[in-house]
Amino acid sequence: MATKDPYKTLGVDKKASAEEIKKAYRKLARQYHPDRNPDDPKAEERFKEIQHAYDIVGDAEKRKEYDKGGLFGGAGPFGGGGGPGGGFGGAAGGAAGGFADILSDLFGAGKTGPGGTSGRGTGPRAERGRDLEAEVSVTFEQAVDGAQVQLSVPTYSRCNTCGGTGAKPGTSPKVCPKCQGRGVESQGQGLFSISQPCSRCGGAGTVIESPCGTCTGSGRTRTVKKYRVNIPAGVKEGSRVRLAGKGEPGRNGAPPGDLYVVVHVDDSPVFVRKGDNVEVEVPLSVVEALNGAEVEVPTLHGRKKLRVPAGTRHGTVQRLRGEGPPKLGGKGQGDIHYRFVLDVPKDLTKEQRKAVDALSKVMNGNPRAALFAHEKKAS
Ligand SMILES: [Zn+2]
Ligand SMILES: [Zn+2]
Repeated sequence: MATKDPYKTLGVDKKASAEEIKKAYRKLARQYHPDRNPDDPKAEERFKEIQHAYDIVGDAEKRKEYDKGGLFGGAGPFGGGGGPGGGFGGAAGGAAGGFADILSDLFGAGKTGPGGTSGRGTGPRAERGRDLEAEVSVTFEQAVDGAQVQLSVPTYSRCNTCGGTGAKPGTSPKVCPKCQGRGVESQGQGLFSISQPCSRCGGAGTVIESPCGTCTGSGRTRTVKKYRVNIPAGVKEGSRVRLAGKGEPGRNGAPPGDLYVVVHVDDSPVFVRKGDNVEVEVPLSVVEALNGAEVEVPTLHGRKKLRVPAGTRHGTVQRLRGEGPPKLGGKGQGDIHYRFVLDVPKDLTKEQRKAVDALSKVMNGNPRAALFAHEKKAS
């Protein structure tokens, strides 16, 4: 299976700018994301292709190499995936080494290569896998009660064609001729020599002369992992749920990273989250505010009645303690705050107009008198 032209996959010109490529990638990735196309294996295939294409042309170094034909021909200066920016190339090299190498990789010790010692632990590095981040959206109700949601995460898995070595089937990675497998190059002499990662193999200690056609020598391919994620009751917008060990695989036997799921909570038309509590605006008619009333209000799981005292002012808040969403970490529950707002009608019927006129005759004090009290004192 040969890799498709990444430019074609992303639908961009070979001369497209990095920004244009990013844009095209984002648009397609959104369109074909498995969460948007559940049970559509074709969309998932396409999604992986898009990810793979972007891995190549979305990275300035790899794009240069690809344009030169280096990623495929194996004739490029880095001999395929072992070069700088080869990403997983290190792991591919490690997997191909002997048993002793695997052990030293596991413990992250400096590797003693065929050519002697490598200095201060500068052999192929064991590197914990990268953390991944994914996003899910839940309804307001799901955030309150908790939910289990499906999540698809684009990530990598070991290439099936080459078994993760990065080398074309039938061939294997060779000990790097430049550094003799030590992964480092030394410049200068004696005490003053400087070691740096080998320019030929990028520190992997091995080079791939004929890269695997499926993974272009990286030893891994794009895949989509599916998870059922338990969203705890009481999550807020932007809460992060950690799935330990579900990030990218580590290099050279190091542990994988973690997967962080960022939760987005849809707005509710009624409830507004305020810290551990939620707030509800409750309209009161002018008459209810004046006379007091018993009003029905929504709770998170039904309705309750509130007694509104006579003379309730606009903006007054009544609390129902412990009726709010659960606090994360089992710390009880928040409150619901009911904020009363005066509902003032714009249009009055003739009859209402008459009543208001009558009211204005008996309630004719100036409520703003206090605003000018200081003027009298000053004069
Ligand atoms: Zn492969
Ligand atoms: Zn080398």
